[in-house]
Amino acid sequence: ALKKRQVSRLVRERLPASIRELLAGMGEVGDAQNVPIFAVGGFVRDLLLGKENLDIDLVIEGDGIAFAREYCRRHPCRVRTHAKFGTAVIIFPDGFKVDIASARMEYYHEPGALPNVEHASIKLDLYRRDFTINTLALALNGPEKGALLDFFGAQRDLQDKVLRVLHNLSFVEDSTRVFRAIRFEQRLGFHIGLQTEQLLRSALRMGFVEKVGGPRLFNELAQILKESNPLPAVERMAELGLLPYIHSRLTLPPRVKSLFAEASRAIHWYELLYTGEPCQGWLVYFLCLTSGLDEESLEELNRRLGIPSRHGVILGEQRREVHRLQRFFERRWGRGRPLRPVELHARLSPLATEALLYLMARVDNDEVRSWVSYFYTALRKAAPLLSGDELKALGIPPGPLYKKILKTLLDARLNGKVASREDEIVLVKKRFLKP
Ligand code: ATP
Repeated sequence: ALKKRQVSRLVRERLPASIRELLAGMGEVGDAQNVPIFAVGGFVRDLLLGKENLDIDLVIEGDGIAFAREYCRRHPCRVRTHAKFGTAVIIFPDGFKVDIASARMEYYHEPGALPNVEHASIKLDLYRRDFTINTLALALNGPEKGALLDFFGAQRDLQDKVLRVLHNLSFVEDSTRVFRAIRFEQRLGFHIGLQTEQLLRSALRMGFVEKVGGPRLFNELAQILKESNPLPAVERMAELGLLPYIHSRLTLPPRVKSLFAEASRAIHWYELLYTGEPCQGWLVYFLCLTSGLDEESLEELNRRLGIPSRHGVILGEQRREVHRLQRFFERRWGRGRPLRPVELHARLSPLATEALLYLMARVDNDEVRSWVSYFYTALRKAAPLLSGDELKALGIPPGPLYKKILKTLLDARLNGKVASREDEIVLVKKRFLKP
């Protein structure tokens, strides 16, 4: 176990000065209020693992909301509180956030339900957590300042790279931990301990995972799909028999696995373009995972998981269109008739980036894939250089004709017939102005 001296060295070497100052400031307010305050959870875990993690979770042995208010009285920041849970979020002017909780006792009325909260000690708070590796607490003030509290063997398990639950009913209390176990296992390169895996499997057998509500299930699944390479975790879900809990007909055949690999290539390709427009990789992977489901099953799944309706268009119409386009493009390729830029533009422009990346993942033909990437890099943003005002200045009276002219100019641009503003003016004069 790490000594205070070793811990302060880790803090000094691995945390940026701004974070160290922030934690010191929190400690001072804790001292002034005479309440013990701790950094806990993933932040401390990752500090020991040497992984960057600036999601700071603090636990106050006392009233976290009163603490947060006092901190914000002394520092330029604002606070958002949730009295029901005894939690607060401190929000700094640059948007940086720190979560504050009151050391609490949680009563689980029913497995899978949200906990009620009441004050209790830090140890009890840590005991309520998912895995031992998340139970470390770093004292920020008082006589213990700088010490690592390790009640449940977290340091040993970090060393052994093993995920263990804290007690036998852990998965029964909260079955979303099944998914969290898989996510941490793959992300950290750990393995689920033998006994923990037995508990996990028996929670599955006893039907507790079925009780997890749709939105919570969706949240866990999305978290897994947001990992940088989600396939190993999805394979582990399949191996443990979890996919049918997402949808009764969901499986992971080799075809879908290779789709994940292709999607990962497409997403990396996209990220290297630095378009400044973020894409939701998890949505691309979700399309891959559910690619074998018919439309009706997918709709049913979306409804049950409560998938936000803003994703509905991509998961519905656009998915259907991608499946159609894939067949169409491959037929055209088979006949040796590549799509012309105008055709590519017309067919691909309506699709969201996520749908395009899904299309790239689906086509198993480098040339067809290059049509899609060509569209994205060269055609997607194509637009006429002349504006309506300039057409007017050329002596064309405003009216429905403008739409036709702009379409003509766009097509000419896509076909490489015009490059400059002058080219466009010449074209407009030739085609739309009587001499
Ligand atoms: P990530 O890097 O994915 O955010 P994290 O460890 O910070 O990992 P969070 O989901 O942000 O995970 O949760 C913060 C802390 O809250 C965790 O360290 C964990 O101890 C605790 N926690 C979260 N979900 C649960 C749960 N379902 N049951 C018990 N404890 C949980």
